Amino acid sequence: MKRFLFILVSLLCTCDLCAAKKVVWVIDAGHGGYDVGCEFGYAYEKHICLAVAKEVGRLVSKNMSDVRVVYTREKDAFLTLQQRCNVANARGAALFLSIHVNSAPNPFARGTESFFATNVPMKGTQAGKSELLALLLQKQYLKNGREVSRGVKQRELYVCENTNMPSVLTEVGFITHSGDRNYITSKAGQNELAQAIYEALSEWKQLTKDGKVPQRTLRNLRYTHHDPITMVTTPQRETTEADARAKEAAEAKVVAEAQAEEKAKAQAQAQKQAQQGATAEPATPVVTEPATPTAAEGKIYFAIQLMNTAKKLEAGDYRLKGFKDVRFIPAGERFKGIYSYSESYLDIKNELVQVRETFPEAFIVAFRGDQQITTAEALANLKL
Ligand SMILES: [Zn+2]
Repeated sequence: MKRFLFILVSLLCTCDLCAAKKVVWVIDAGHGGYDVGCEFGYAYEKHICLAVAKEVGRLVSKNMSDVRVVYTREKDAFLTLQQRCNVANARGAALFLSIHVNSAPNPFARGTESFFATNVPMKGTQAGKSELLALLLQKQYLKNGREVSRGVKQRELYVCENTNMPSVLTEVGFITHSGDRNYITSKAGQNELAQAIYEALSEWKQLTKDGKVPQRTLRNLRYTHHDPITMVTTPQRETTEADARAKEAAEAKVVAEAQAEEKAKAQAQAQKQAQQGATAEPATPVVTEPATPTAAEGKIYFAIQLMNTAKKLEAGDYRLKGFKDVRFIPAGERFKGIYSYSESYLDIKNELVQVRETFPEAFIVAFRGDQQITTAEALANLKL
């Protein structure tokens, strides 16, 4: 009977009935689908992130019965940054770990680095937990044989800022550095990285098990791992992927501010009109042709402007560089070449990254029906 009970209890504890007792950790493999991340030759960041993320998940699932691993993606699929945050927020995850690969114009830049954000008010006490994990990751990378640690940095990264739990973004190496690249693209290197990450996670779990962050440990780790232990010979600062992400976050902030400003303006205008009893003057239509199937419905959508030309270009024109379904809409004497459309600003923003590889000057435009409006206005009118 004892034996039977033991088996029963064991069975219960691995089944879904006990799921409520498990904490959820979200492991996010960066990029995916058409967003390959950084690349070098045949090496794509998205594949490296996924391989390491899955191995980390496997180690956690195997060794920590009280943790349920949830992946943002388990295959080569595209997800927006917000979708990744949503996975963690909706699940009430206790941890969000995003795995990435670095790149830099400087081919000597190498090593690992980990990022966390603290300037999110809702994070409060959670902030120390993010920093602690970032520090433990850097500690374990070194312990597991990585030679260069670029340390722990505080940075405004989308996934760290928009998740409600301790969250860290870790860069496991540079795809642009030959040594790093060989390591992070090899099965042995990926397994070793996953092992280091797993060990950092175990330590973090142990240290925070009472819900608090041991301050002395945090201080000691800061002392060793906060400032990069620079073994890279070139001292100049490289522009890394994280910098690009930080820039993106800053841009999003500008958009949000523009949105707020636009809203306030519109409210003031409406108030003024209400007082004067006047009706709004219709805005001058910029676009005179229906631009998309949604045009007639007066919906707000975003698109990408590729070019401004004197004439409409025929499909297949070499200047379209292989892009299909580019619509040319009149703008004064000239034409705007408009590509793609989506009601999701984030989707278009992500697509723009891809488009800019071919058309570096491309930018986002917004429409209400067949009328072009400012992006800020479009955002202000969207129910986000
Ligand atoms: Zn990345």
